[in-house]
Amino acid sequence: MNARWNGQYSCFDLVARTPERPRTVVQVGDIAIGGDDFVVMAGPCAVESEQQVLDTAMSVAAAGARILRGGAYKPRSSPYSFQGLGVEGLKILAKAREYTGLAVITEVMSETDVEVVAEYADIMQVGARSMENYSLLERLGRCGRPVLLKRGMTATLEDLLCSAQFLVAAGNPEVILCERGIRTFETATRNTFDVAAVPVLKTVSHLPVIADPSHAAGVRVLVPILARAAVVVGADGLLVEVHPQPEKAASDGEQSLTLGQFDAMMGDLAPYLSLRSSGERECAVVGGVS
Ligand code: PEP
Ligand code: MN
Repeated sequence: MNARWNGQYSCFDLVARTPERPRTVVQVGDIAIGGDDFVVMAGPCAVESEQQVLDTAMSVAAAGARILRGGAYKPRSSPYSFQGLGVEGLKILAKAREYTGLAVITEVMSETDVEVVAEYADIMQVGARSMENYSLLERLGRCGRPVLLKRGMTATLEDLLCSAQFLVAAGNPEVILCERGIRTFETATRNTFDVAAVPVLKTVSHLPVIADPSHAAGVRVLVPILARAAVVVGADGLLVEVHPQPEKAASDGEQSLTLGQFDAMMGDLAPYLSLRSSGERECAVVGGVS
């Protein structure tokens, strides 16, 4: 398969898909991301309290999620918004992992926090706003944990892949890409979910691709529909915001599913997931390339 897309990508040979390197599977304990399983990561936007995280973790685990998400360090557009609980939040996530067996993904915003976040997290999340923070990426190259790299809100796929190349070149081959919607002139949704990004990335790169329908949609009613689209176009999994009381959430409540809605969404995805495991997914990806 041609590793380039119309010959336009040249700066990311370490993450380019080649016949010798068709796919990378990132292993997190017994969870394989980028393999045959569809891996769902779910939890609140921000860690707010132990009760909130434990209630969410138990519920999403029962519904089929494998990984718990939750921000302890929050990149907020306003300096007056809730900025996260920091280390206390990391400890709450670790406790939830102990109780439920879920792995933990959480965002790291600063080079100075890499060590402490790596002590508690199984996967380090690089947020959309940090995708171009090259000194952070450089430091994450040596963090000893897999990294989920979100697409910047104004980043092209080439920009995203160049940032992924930074991580790999700095010593960390365990990189997961994440499409979370981009800024366009459309205002009906918070961002525009770039549905084509998933098969393009799966085609030109060997890295796993996760979709985040929550930040793409910005409203909870659209989240299950975009999640379904992500399955159909070949994503390796989802990152979804879930909160026991979204109306009281400290951040991103409008786009957070309730525990019941998350459970219903997982049920709704089942037929699409069985299509995927019967080989449809590889056909969709391979058929789109030449
Ligand atoms: C998040 O996952 O809560 C988040 C801040 O996402 P993004 O970086 O995609 O805006
Ligand atoms: Mn959020």
